[in-house]
Amino acid sequence: MIIEPKIRGFVCITAHPEGCAEKVAQEIAVAKAAHFEGGPKKVLVIGASTGYGLSSRITSAFTSGADTLGVFFERPSINGKPASAGWYNTVAFEKEANAAGLYAKSINGDAFSNEIKDTVVETIKQDLGKVDCVIYSLASPKRIDPADGTIYKSCLKPIGSTFNNISLDTNKGEIQEVSLEPATDDDIHQTVKVMGGDDWELWMEVLAKNDLLASDCKTVAYSYIGPEVTWPIYKNGTIGVAKLDLDRASKEISNKYGLESYVSVNKAVVTQASSAIPVVPLYISILYKIMNQKGTHEGCIEQIVRLFKDRLYGESTELDSDGRIRVDDWEMDPEVQQKVADLWPQVTSDNLRQLTDFNLYQKEFLELFGFGLESVDYSQPVEVDRPIKGLITD
Ligand code: NAD
Repeated sequence: MIIEPKIRGFVCITAHPEGCAEKVAQEIAVAKAAHFEGGPKKVLVIGASTGYGLSSRITSAFTSGADTLGVFFERPSINGKPASAGWYNTVAFEKEANAAGLYAKSINGDAFSNEIKDTVVETIKQDLGKVDCVIYSLASPKRIDPADGTIYKSCLKPIGSTFNNISLDTNKGEIQEVSLEPATDDDIHQTVKVMGGDDWELWMEVLAKNDLLASDCKTVAYSYIGPEVTWPIYKNGTIGVAKLDLDRASKEISNKYGLESYVSVNKAVVTQASSAIPVVPLYISILYKIMNQKGTHEGCIEQIVRLFKDRLYGESTELDSDGRIRVDDWEMDPEVQQKVADLWPQVTSDNLRQLTDFNLYQKEFLELFGFGLESVDYSQPVEVDRPIKGLITD
């Protein structure tokens, strides 16, 4: 069939398999060019199909020749409809990894569940023996607690007082006023349950209990801090409390299992998760303009290559005073942030495309779903039903 983008709010409900393959190929090329010795060899990526997790899988495989096991929650093609982007990304990744002689298998299902953890345990036992790197890169709106079946929902709300600011309607390309009501204690609790460190700890517990962690194993979860303009909705909001809980979990993991455990603070990039956060698309559009002018613009793959090559497996991990890795350092450069703060109050719907790089934001958003890539002929019909060869099914 011929597949066109169908955008609903901040998601695109269609995806293009050839476009996704092209994007994956571009990321693989960046990783290959950064090849280095001493990287991980057997990597488990939780949240491996899009965004930072996909780039972590690609970086592991193509900078260091690692075997990878990926866990994600994606939609296959059903009744002739396109699969989700993460499904097609995985089809493309596995094809390239296999062609390079690398092991690549995938598990599609709810990473919060005991069943998926058990499947991962059995797969590592059978195929890999142990893993030497575990990347935790989930971004999810809800979690069913496997202990008692309680459903928790995460939310993006300020804490303490109402947040009023401008935001960007990315469909209309218009600046709008937003007003967000403060979270209740229950909102905070639920968001921590979904996006905090609880599930990361459960993963490390089950892997340790089954003796599947190599003695030099490292584990990393991803976090974000960002600029003051987003603090009410991010760092000081419900999601920020959940991200603080990752710091707690990281220390617990390191103490309990005696391995290197880190929270890496990454930069703001366009992903399916970030496009859903109020205010953030406007911030990213301004940031992209400034970082491109300065020559420091990075996407997911450049960030993760730098994380692996220079920090995790480089000369120095370089932790901040709270013990976190900071690959958001170029974003948080005071000169960059001063320019963001200067531009922020000036942006209107009329000057949006002059003062910010909303064009690049929109391009990257479409590319998340495999659209807008020059090398793809979108007028040609394509097969939508593409199997993931290394998919492990019960
Ligand atoms: P994303 O939406 O691109 O990826 C989320 C991944 O989680 C996908 O692979 C998806 O399939 C998987 N997933 C979601 N729910 C799942 C479930 N129940 N079971 C199994 N898999 C599930 O998101 P992203 O932006 O790459 O975010 C990943 C991490 O990076 C998050 O912790 C996020 O806070 C952090 N981060 C993101 C940014 C940013 O700007 N995007 C910046 C810094 C840190």
